[in-house]
Amino acid sequence: MIGAAELLLIVLIIVLVFGTSRLSRAADTTKAAVKVGKKKVWVTNPVTGEKEFTLMSLEKELALGRRTHAEVQQKWGLYDDDDLQQYIHGVGLKMAKASHWPQLPWRFSVVDDSSVNAFAAPGGFIYLTRGLLAYLCDEAELAGVLAHEIGHVTARHRAKGYTREQGAQAGLWLVRIFWPAARTLSGFADKGLGMLFLSYGRDDELEADRLAVGYLAACGWDPAGLPRVLTTLGRLQDASGEEVPTWLSTHPSSPDRVAELEDTVTRVRNRPTGDNRSGYRQKIQGLRFGDGPGHRLAAHTIADGDSWQSLASKPIDAATLAILNGYPVTKPPRIGEAIKTVT
Ligand SMILES: [Zn+2]
Repeated sequence: MIGAAELLLIVLIIVLVFGTSRLSRAADTTKAAVKVGKKKVWVTNPVTGEKEFTLMSLEKELALGRRTHAEVQQKWGLYDDDDLQQYIHGVGLKMAKASHWPQLPWRFSVVDDSSVNAFAAPGGFIYLTRGLLAYLCDEAELAGVLAHEIGHVTARHRAKGYTREQGAQAGLWLVRIFWPAARTLSGFADKGLGMLFLSYGRDDELEADRLAVGYLAACGWDPAGLPRVLTTLGRLQDASGEEVPTWLSTHPSSPDRVAELEDTVTRVRNRPTGDNRSGYRQKIQGLRFGDGPGHRLAAHTIADGDSWQSLASKPIDAATLAILNGYPVTKPPRIGEAIKTVT
């Protein structure tokens, strides 16, 4: 007896063999249909330069991006600091313009949320949370996060996932004709917000990391900024137990990615790069921290006798304070170093 998965596979093979025009005619009769036919279904992937089949045209991607942007603003709201928003947009835009897809209407925004996360909507709309911003130690780390998300967009990872899912839905529709009891697949939501937090495949993640390192180096930021963020988030994950930073929970593990990046970073690191550490610290000074009322980031210079323990305050324990400053939890702060604290 043929199971649902095998049947679906057979149908998909038939669809591939007989081509998309037949699929189009068949699908026209149902709301779950995939609309191909007159629409342009082959696009050039900006990163590989190769033609690929897609069910997400550029028009659709842009429309979905605009709709998602409105939904993100409504659901979480953007962080209320124009100067900070412009700064983040400027860092992101510099790399986007140097990327494989400079002509997209790129937009980089900080979401007013305490979780540690970053994500890309279709069409070049990229977000990071104020929660993640607090854990970044310099501009190269900020650029690293944004560059990784840019990489997902330029390599069309979401569009590819969407196309796969819609193809599977069409296959499922055909399966249902023969077997009405077929179970519904958990669909790739055809809505903006539904797409934001679906995980990418491991290969897509590693490709986004490699692209990010190239974009960082091309714009003069230290490409090691990306592995540094991954290390910080890995520590946060280890320290907090069940409370996993979202950006990592949907990605391969942090040590894996750092190891994969080592060669790429070394290769591009022979040019002079910077991290604008002090400039970044000024921009995030006073940033709201956590969910409690009134907690904000402040600056402190380590004096003799200071420890993570003595500097920890109500909203942040000693271990988290070390991680917030890019340290392993067991290493004491260096005397004279300017660190972030929470007041
Ligand atoms: Zn990713």
